[in-house]
Parts: sequence; C-alpha cells; structure tokens
Amino acid sequence: MASHLSDIVGVPNHPVDVAVARLEAARRVTVLTGAGVSAASGVPTFRGAGGLWRDYRAEDLATPEAFERDPVLVWEWYGWRRRLVAATRPNAAHDVLARWTARWPTCTVITQNVDDLHVRVGTARLVRLHGSLWELSCWQRCGAPAWRDERVPIDPMPPRCPACGGLARPGVVWFGEALPAGEVEKAVEACACDVFLSVGTSSVVYPAAGLVQQARSQGAFTIEINPEVTPVTASVDLALAEPADAALGLIDSRLR
Ligand code: ZN
Repeated sequence: MASHLSDIVGVPNHPVDVAVARLEAARRVTVLTGAGVSAASGVPTFRGAGGLWRDYRAEDLATPEAFERDPVLVWEWYGWRRRLVAATRPNAAHDVLARWTARWPTCTVITQNVDDLHVRVGTARLVRLHGSLWELSCWQRCGAPAWRDERVPIDPMPPRCPACGGLARPGVVWFGEALPAGEVEKAVEACACDVFLSVGTSSVVYPAAGLVQQARSQGAFTIEINPEVTPVTASVDLALAEPADAALGLIDSRLR
C-alpha cells in the first residue's frame, strides 16, 4: 500500500524535500497550472463525460462556428459555467502560488484555466493562456477593448458590446482559435527559469504542453505535480503523483 505523502517526507532525498531544496536555491521559478489546480475547488473540467451540458460537449459549443450559428445557446452554456464557478472558492494551491508570486518577484504563474481563481487570490504577474470566463469582447471586433463583467446571471442575454451595441462574446480562447500572442510570448519567456513546475495539467493541449519541455531544454529543473500520468511524466526531473492542493501545501510548509 502506498504511503501518504505527508507521512514519508523527511526520508533522505524524498521528492518533496528535493523540490523544496530546488525552489529555495532558484532565482527564477515558473509554474504552469491546469484544471487539476481548480479541481479541489470543485470546478468541473467541462470536458469529457462530467462536462456535458444538455447533451452538448465542449467541442460542440466552444467554437466560433457554434457561436455564429446560435450565440444564445453558447451564452447559456457560459452562463451555466459562470454560475458554477461563481459558487466555488480558491483552494490551498491557489493560495500557495499567490504567496509565492508575492514572495519571489521573479515567480511567474501561467494558467490554462479560465475560472480566474488565481485572480481572486491576487496572484501577481499571472499569464492567462486561454482567457477568462469573466471577460467579454466584441464579436464584431469593433475595436472596443475587452471588458470585465462578473454578473451572474448574464444580463442582457445575449450580452452586448457597450461601444457598438453588437453581440459580445466570451473572452476565452475557443477550439480552432490562436492563443493571445502577448500571453504566449510571456509564457515562452518565463521558460528561461531555474525551476519549472507543471501542476494539474494534462500536458496534452499545445502549446502549454511544450512549455515544460522548453524549460527543460533551457536548463530548468522540471517538476510535475499530477495524480495522473501524463505525456511529460516520464521526462520531467521530478514527478509527484499527488493532487495540486496537497502537494503545493506540503512543499510550501517546508520552505524556509
Ligand atoms: Zn463592439
């Protein structure tokens, strides 16, 4: 039977102690987060069987084509997601990472999550690769800058652009769309670090999946925290098969 992680730290060269030593010695730390970081908050992944809504899959709704066809349907789905996320709270993983960005001015958090739980706890220098459920932009691209709207339920339905009165769209990256170039640039730049942690991400979706490899090729010590085996598990320097909140909480408690 596997020991619980917290029971076996203190054993020489235990993975948690190795991670702690690497973090303490690092000048620059970069953390990539995915759905697993929000899992302890109860945010569904919105993919796979658990993410079904009225028998639609995310792939059927999170596309420009679906929005073009039926914007109200797509907005109803986002309204449901926003309601679910609004009822959740950040967990220990979000708290630890926000503390690290405050403690280390060179610590960057890159997230694939659109729930903004990192934003709620005041994470500094957050890079959001897939946008935010809580931001909107103009579907007609009239030139209005994206804006924040946290109202639940969404009102009016569908929401409108305050500048041109046309349809507003969710400020998230849909299937088939490019990631925001400025955020990708910051993420790639942050790969030049001493320690790169990949936390709660399936490492399947590119380019996020390539970031850990890029960091490693630039000399970073790479750590994966994920209870599941992923495509990068075998190639990182250290893999902790634990949930994000437990592992980050334990590492943080042992940092001097
Ligand atoms: Zn507009």
